Amino acid sequence: MKMNKSRTVKKKQSAEPKQKIDPEKLVDSVSVKLLSRGIPYDGVGDSVIMQLPKFKATKYLATINADNFESNLSSMLSLLLVEPDIDPWKLTAGDRNWLLLWTRMQIHSMYHFSITCPHCLFPNSAHNYPLKNVPCVVIDKECSGETEVELEQSKSKVKLGFVTGEDEKEVDRVHTQTEEKREILRGVSAIREIDGRSGLTLEDKMKWMDNLPPGDEITILGSWQKFTQHGPNYGNCPYTCPKCGKVSRIRLPFRPELWYPTIPFERAFGNAADSSDVSGGRDLSGDAGGGSDGHS
Ligand SMILES: [Zn+2]
Repeated sequence: MKMNKSRTVKKKQSAEPKQKIDPEKLVDSVSVKLLSRGIPYDGVGDSVIMQLPKFKATKYLATINADNFESNLSSMLSLLLVEPDIDPWKLTAGDRNWLLLWTRMQIHSMYHFSITCPHCLFPNSAHNYPLKNVPCVVIDKECSGETEVELEQSKSKVKLGFVTGEDEKEVDRVHTQTEEKREILRGVSAIREIDGRSGLTLEDKMKWMDNLPPGDEITILGSWQKFTQHGPNYGNCPYTCPKCGKVSRIRLPFRPELWYPTIPFERAFGNAADSSDVSGGRDLSGDAGGGSDGHS
């Protein structure tokens, strides 16, 4: 991912009046490319200006858990996002998760965990994984934003959009009340219109989906993943074994250290063993569903 040091802010080509930018925010700020190429946002280019994280921002990372994940992420992005003036909740899940990974990498570029090589079973108890190796999926150039899908069996017409932070909040809410898989809920939350009807709640959409022929359901979820897919893919990270040299694809363990590094503490106390899964098993890989073990 390219990041250019910049002291100046490039103006976007828009007729909007100039945004007032806090000059203090511009100190130590850099341009960061968006994995969405800015396609989902009106009048926004393909990058944002981010301030390098200060201690205040890192506190949000240090206290992330499955329950506060989206709200902590939004608060942190509010602090760090200099330009454009966009509500972090309206950013796509893929961009949000990428900016989270970017922020984490500015604090420390490595992630410390134990792993056993699937080829030679070498137990690597102190592996330092370079986070820049996490594959980041950039959205397809041809993606034009919302797309309409006509379902073969039910003949319904469905408009699909991008999953945003707001949608993720809804998914979290419904997920705690039902047994639905998160990945299905995320796909359904991307539905913007059903046969011309908009403004539907996630529950409304789920009810409608329940009566769909299974083939149509797969068409919706498949189309959504195909056309909106972008974000870090934590489930498909290359790992080179230091013993046998073979490369395998691994899912990074979701531990608190993935969001905030605690290497010095681990070294001091020898506590490098796997800790609990903070993410509650949720897939935090943004819209990049490929290679994950979720629904596809
Ligand atoms: Zn090996």
